[in-house]
Amino acid sequence: MAKPRVVTGNSDLIRELNRFLVLDLIRRKGPISRADVKRITGLNFTTVTNAVNDLMAEGLVQEVGLGTSSGGRKPVLLTLKPDARYVLGCELQSAKLVVGLFNLVGTLVARADLPMRPTDQPSAVVERIARGVDRVLERAGVRRDRVAGLGVAAPGPLDSTEGVLLTPPNLHGWRSVPLRAMLEEATGLPVVVEKDGNAAALGEVWFGAGQSVRDLILIIVDDGIGAGMTVGGRLYRGSVGGAGEIGHMTIDLDGPRCSCGNYGCVEAIASGFALGRKAHELMRRGVESQLAGAGEIGSAELLAAAENGDRLAIDLLDECGRILGIAIANTVNMYNPELIVLAGRLAQQSDLVLNRAVELGRSRAFSVLSQQVCIRRSTLGEGFLVAGAASLVLSQLLQGPVDIPPA
Ligand SMILES: [Zn+2]
Repeated sequence: MAKPRVVTGNSDLIRELNRFLVLDLIRRKGPISRADVKRITGLNFTTVTNAVNDLMAEGLVQEVGLGTSSGGRKPVLLTLKPDARYVLGCELQSAKLVVGLFNLVGTLVARADLPMRPTDQPSAVVERIARGVDRVLERAGVRRDRVAGLGVAAPGPLDSTEGVLLTPPNLHGWRSVPLRAMLEEATGLPVVVEKDGNAAALGEVWFGAGQSVRDLILIIVDDGIGAGMTVGGRLYRGSVGGAGEIGHMTIDLDGPRCSCGNYGCVEAIASGFALGRKAHELMRRGVESQLAGAGEIGSAELLAAAENGDRLAIDLLDECGRILGIAIANTVNMYNPELIVLAGRLAQQSDLVLNRAVELGRSRAFSVLSQQVCIRRSTLGEGFLVAGAASLVLSQLLQGPVDIPPA
């Protein structure tokens, strides 16, 4: 295994980098001895000892007992202290608002499900999130000064550098909302705002299906289609934060108009709302379905009808899986990821969607690439976005700017 490059320069910077290097290794490989930290990082013993002393003084790392001896004394083993600090995550969607408190190893300690409608205005939602934060801290008995920050997974397009929501199509009247500044003011905590697909991708790396994976792509298949990707275990945002917009990959040149203004995007054909519009159109043309008389049809209505054996709903979910499969095949050819994670209700609750997507994703991709790619559901269940939101803070707190190869 390649040793990390030795950097020379500002000694405080080097000390900081070494601290993160040691912390990251203890988090991923603990319980681990100081000698093994030294061996894997390639740092000298004094540097490792100093870094561990710093981390123990901060309360982030603890000694947990003795390992097996390879000759002399048994080595003392180190782990991350799970409850040393906490992180908050917030899932902000047009009809769902959740705040969750997590410890450093990703255990959900307390959760608040808050009301949310697409017509709610930013100031009211910010106030509600702040009360949700109060509630989870109180419920868990955790003081605010032990919380490292609040991560928010929000609908794009957004500017994650400034924490500004630009023009989310499903939040009525939200235009250039400075969400980070508003939430920092309301909660007194550092806040990170990220596009939902990106947050979810990072969440799988930290807590879910991608914990030992460097390059993964996550696709959310729900009323809309979102996506995010990591490269080398870190988020890949592209030049203006739009990387991995798989939902807006063109599938049908002459297809229906998409919310993005283009035609025939994956989202315009395979999302829950797109399938719902198609259901209405087919029923107008005389196709029979239990969905007759329904207002707006989305993922929830389609899944319920398909569960009841409704032919139209089943056919539409099959179509969703097929389109998704083609999008996956194109994605595999383009990025050659190690893992593709599927999340969102349509992918997580329908075996038909999942199986079709996996089958076509594999059979239509370049064969060498499709043989090695793993395609699976999120292991984080319904809470994948709130966990992803929390991982935004955790990655800043525990990973820092350095990268070490997987040990
Ligand atoms: Zn589009």
